[in-house]
Amino acid sequence: MSNISIVDQFVAREKVVAFTFDDGPNPVYTHQLLDIFRQASSKATFYMIGNQIEQHRELVRTVVSEGHEIGNHTYTHPYMSRLCEQECINEVVWTEELIIETVGVKPQTFRPPYFDYNEQAAQFIRSRGYTIVGAVNGEAMDWEQPGVQHIVDKTKEKVSPGSVLLFHDGFGDRSQTVEAVRILVRELLAEGYRLVTVSDLIGLSAGEGA
Ligand SMILES: [Zn+2]
Repeated sequence: MSNISIVDQFVAREKVVAFTFDDGPNPVYTHQLLDIFRQASSKATFYMIGNQIEQHRELVRTVVSEGHEIGNHTYTHPYMSRLCEQECINEVVWTEELIIETVGVKPQTFRPPYFDYNEQAAQFIRSRGYTIVGAVNGEAMDWEQPGVQHIVDKTKEKVSPGSVLLFHDGFGDRSQTVEAVRILVRELLAEGYRLVTVSDLIGLSAGEGA
């Protein structure tokens, strides 16, 4: 696996940061996060799984109607490095087609489940026009429910202008994530950050690899 092809941090001259939420949409937690971002007049990116999109299409449309970005997070959430080429293609293309069918917009960014992929997968994903997106705050490990303060502290240790931040709105109890995000949104706004989508970050850093 080549770390050159996954981007955790974009170059940014202004204080902008991208919150991202993986594994949804989820009928409980996605709504709670949408409330936070609506009240903050801010935007986020949701890396959705195809088989969840199929179950919650209206919620997917709500996310887009509120100005957020939807990214491709595969159809079944596999370890991509363990897939044959055709399985890998299916995971990406089925989810892309589902997103287009549901909201009429082709996703521009992709996040590999478990940050796991190989060069074959990366080449195919990029060939379909995607930027492959990681995150700077993996140590926050919100998916392990390590405590609200842990999620907040480990994220704030790593955040800087141009950072992508990873959280989850799917798979299990995400109440710690929601509370941590509520705090982080308030504190980062107070520090003068703007909270934008990943595609906005890419646009702001156009031509400058990080
Ligand atoms: Zn995931």
